[in-house]
Amino acid sequence: MKAKSDVVVIGAGPYGLSAAAHLNAHGVNVRVFGETMSFWDRNMPEGMCLRSPWEASQLSDPARSLTIDAFQTASGVPVSRPIPIARFVAYGRWFQSHAVPNLEQRKVVEIEKDTAGFRVVLADGEAVRCGRVVIAGGIGPFAVRPPQFAGLPRELASHSSEHRDLNRFRGKRVVVIGGGQSALESAALLQERQAEIELVIRESVVRWTWQRPWLHTFRPVGAVLYAWPDVGPAFISHAVARPDLYRLLPRWLQDSWYVKSTRPNGVGWLKPRLRDVPISVGLAVLSATARGNQVELKLSDGWRGQVDHVLMATGYRVDLRKYEFLSGSLVSELRMIEGCPVLGRGFESSVPGLHFLGAPAARSYGPLMRFVAGADFAARAVAQSVVCARRTIVGWPIADALRSRRVAAPRTPEGT
Ligand SMILES: Cc1cc2nc3c(=O)[nH]c(=O)nc-3n(C[C@H](O)[C@H](O)[C@H](O)COP(=O)(O)OP(=O)(O)OC[C@H]3O[C@@H](n4cnc5c(N)ncnc54)[C@H](O)[C@@H]3O)c2cc1C
Repeated sequence: MKAKSDVVVIGAGPYGLSAAAHLNAHGVNVRVFGETMSFWDRNMPEGMCLRSPWEASQLSDPARSLTIDAFQTASGVPVSRPIPIARFVAYGRWFQSHAVPNLEQRKVVEIEKDTAGFRVVLADGEAVRCGRVVIAGGIGPFAVRPPQFAGLPRELASHSSEHRDLNRFRGKRVVVIGGGQSALESAALLQERQAEIELVIRESVVRWTWQRPWLHTFRPVGAVLYAWPDVGPAFISHAVARPDLYRLLPRWLQDSWYVKSTRPNGVGWLKPRLRDVPISVGLAVLSATARGNQVELKLSDGWRGQVDHVLMATGYRVDLRKYEFLSGSLVSELRMIEGCPVLGRGFESSVPGLHFLGAPAARSYGPLMRFVAGADFAARAVAQSVVCARRTIVGWPIADALRSRRVAAPRTPEGT
């Protein structure tokens, strides 16, 4: 068992790194675990570009100085727009080396409560005791695999998050399922890698955003319609950009705007790359059966046929029970709604001292938390909450001593 630390941060993606940068700057005794930008590096396809605009793809440090612009200058290599994933990963690594040099690239296997707070157990057996844990473990474990494909081996049907290199599908017949950016971009990348591709979308249309970029970028108009993170439809985007206000809206309105802001869609710059991809809309896969090295699909319009692979770009649904490192007893103490933690100020859950950042925070703080753009708000809020709690704890012994002197004073003569 190692020495105690005040805070443990789990995760070294945009949220974990940003939170750690702020905690470090406040002089908090923090240990940070995770692999730098690992989800972006291993679980997204090579050649992908970020859908989020430049301003909304920044990690957060207190001085807002470790920006993509600063990275560009420091590296001497320009970053193009839309931002290529390899450059974003490199930016994350550069950010980490400057703001979170204390990162330990180690895996957490268990978190449990103990008398003084928490016990965080690492894969190599070391256990760290700490007063608070900030979980920024990402969406990896929440990948949705529709039940129709449950019986198929991964060689025949896989989730989009299982692939970095799509070259293995060269010359294969692949059906991509889904209508969001991930499905549309995977289809474009597969087509460019000479796969024979078809896109099957449940919705009746393909939705596009940024079809007229000037509506987002031309200052007077763009600034009225869309807030800087550009998450959500026109006008609603301004509420989404202010998570502290968003939280105050009636639940029904939060839910309605959440749905509108996270609807599957593609960014306009992708459209020309899909010109030659056959897209079937309004269709569902009814069944998928393994036939040798192929999958037989039956679609809701009656079509039946065999393909080499099904790529499920079917998104992610938060369910905290899928974080393997959360002990069963801790999960049972968490107040959750539909798998999401109910969070209070400073992203703190119903278990005092346990904070959740990123997508798990989206039910409490809104859709911005599903995007990199939410990292600045989240990192500042969690750091402030940690620092305030520390002040209270530091002030406690003094206040306690004064209180007990006041209470003890009249007793002294009686007792003597
Ligand atoms: C295909 C795709 C494209 C996307 N494009 C965009 C985009 O363009 N713009 C945008 O804003 N958002 C985009 N997103 C959403 C994006 O995933 C999130 O915004 C972002 O990753 C959230 O960051 P995070 O820090 O919460 O999680 P992640 O980046 O997933 O980081 C999770 C971290 O937790 C660590 N970790 C996990 N488990 C453990 C453990 N047991 N022990 C130690 N460490 C652990 C990992 O090593 C990693 O460092 C995209 C998502 C997908 C799937």
